Amino acid sequence: MQRLVLASNNPGKLREFGALLSPLGFDVVPQGQLGVPEAEEPFGTFVENALAKARHASRLAGMPALADDSGICVQALDGAPGVYSARYAQMAGQAKTDAANNAHLISQLAGKLNRRAHYYCVLVFVRHAADPCPIIAEGVWHGEVVDAPRGAGGFGYDAHFLLPELGKTAAELPADEKNAVSHRALALRSLAARLQTEGRGQAAR
Ligand code: IMP
Repeated sequence: MQRLVLASNNPGKLREFGALLSPLGFDVVPQGQLGVPEAEEPFGTFVENALAKARHASRLAGMPALADDSGICVQALDGAPGVYSARYAQMAGQAKTDAANNAHLISQLAGKLNRRAHYYCVLVFVRHAADPCPIIAEGVWHGEVVDAPRGAGGFGYDAHFLLPELGKTAAELPADEKNAVSHRALALRSLAARLQTEGRGQAAR
């Protein structure tokens, strides 16, 4: 097995990424377990932040690294909240909670007819900290923002994220259904395919 540091300590992500990457020969270790502190995420794009996190973890842990970044992008708001999804309300002087983020999003969309939005996830894998060719995998999940929340599952913006073709919000989907079709699932599947063909051999330098 090739050890791989995950630039996150989120137990859900560790479980999801570990399950997918262990059949590919990777033993996924969260960065906290290796004494790696969280990296800054100062950039305006998801891919820049994920690359910065992956490089940071790989440099400090001395092994291949995987990082992710995700959020919701709303068309009528020029892609906001985007990389600021987790702290959207906080940046407007409000609480850093899902409820405050959702209330702020709905207020920003007041009077706007275009409700189209997508969740976006990017995964970045580096074989080592100076890897000039990181593997970058993306996942996009399209939907619409609805004013009235529906459903109790998921997290973040899920109760306001309607999947028109299913007639349900992401928070109304059972977890296994969401995890099969979400932006994260799509990015993970794409990453696994890329690793299978090009990543694994080079990681074991
Ligand atoms: P992170 O990439 O895990 O830090 O997620 C950033 C933020 O994007 C989260 O705090 C949520 O606000 C939002 N987000 C990302 N993925 C989802 C999702 O699947 N459902 C709801 N919100 C999400």
